[in-house]
Amino acid sequence: MGAGRFAPSPSGPLHLGNLRTAILAWLFARSTDRDFLLRIEDLDRVRSGAETTQINELASLGLDFDGEMLRQSDRLPVYLEAVERLKDRGLVYECFCSRKDIAEAGSAPHAAPGAYPGTCRELSPSEREAKAKNRPAALRLRSQVNEFSVHDELFGDYTGAVDDFVLIRNDGAPAYNLAVVVDDAFSGIDQVVRGDDLLSSAPRQAYLATLLDYEVPVYAHVPLALNSKGQRLAKRDGAVTLEEITEQGLLPANVVTILLESLGLPSTSLQAALQAFDPAALPREPWIVDPENIVQQLMPPASRNR
Ligand code: GLU
Repeated sequence: MGAGRFAPSPSGPLHLGNLRTAILAWLFARSTDRDFLLRIEDLDRVRSGAETTQINELASLGLDFDGEMLRQSDRLPVYLEAVERLKDRGLVYECFCSRKDIAEAGSAPHAAPGAYPGTCRELSPSEREAKAKNRPAALRLRSQVNEFSVHDELFGDYTGAVDDFVLIRNDGAPAYNLAVVVDDAFSGIDQVVRGDDLLSSAPRQAYLATLLDYEVPVYAHVPLALNSKGQRLAKRDGAVTLEEITEQGLLPANVVTILLESLGLPSTSLQAALQAFDPAALPREPWIVDPENIVQQLMPPASRNR
């Protein structure tokens, strides 16, 4: 039996888009008899107290998790060990470039826009030594490919760019792509369900998994929740977090109803939705959210428009 997962970054309370993705990840995992695991991705963007809030919020929706929760900040040696394995095979190099250096260098010929141009890939020992005096090094993957293909349950076969992406940042912290790949493999996760803003990261992650001799998971990148202008939901849009919505008198169960309706699923309970769940029938477009409407829609008539 494999496992699926939800892997929030504890940067604040969960909003409707995160909650919808969490429900989808749960539905994908449970409908395929997989375990469902929780991982806290706290290598950056941490707000104090957010982890506990998020865990409570997920529980209040009725999502159940299996096994032990992983917290990335507890696992630094594991990421470094994976980098050592790559180093042993000559697949890692030191990079001293700042963001500005990379922007100014432009893309290498035949490389995807925004790809690392390879400035530090072939430095001589003396060049490296000179650069190290000015700036600590990041560690980059010496990628052997320019692109890689993955299979996504919603997008089908997807091919995307793979460049010499960062494994260890120059402040010593493991980069997102490394941590995700190492953790998914460690936890036996063979199904990755997350927002479709991360689809373009999947080829890099799948390629890295193959280099580390891990199984590549199946992916399902699900549509995001957007505001009426087509932007990601944010504070300015009104009551978009579970906290804000429940403060206005709705229950977490009401929020589950709204989210399941937005997915075209039976909305009486998570179990009812699970019975009917069919990935092929999911909406492929972003979910456009008008927070005003959401609260109004579910308020008992007497308390409306106070
Ligand atoms: N921690 C990431 C986020 O909250 C998700 C990473 C992933 O699912 O791979 O956006």
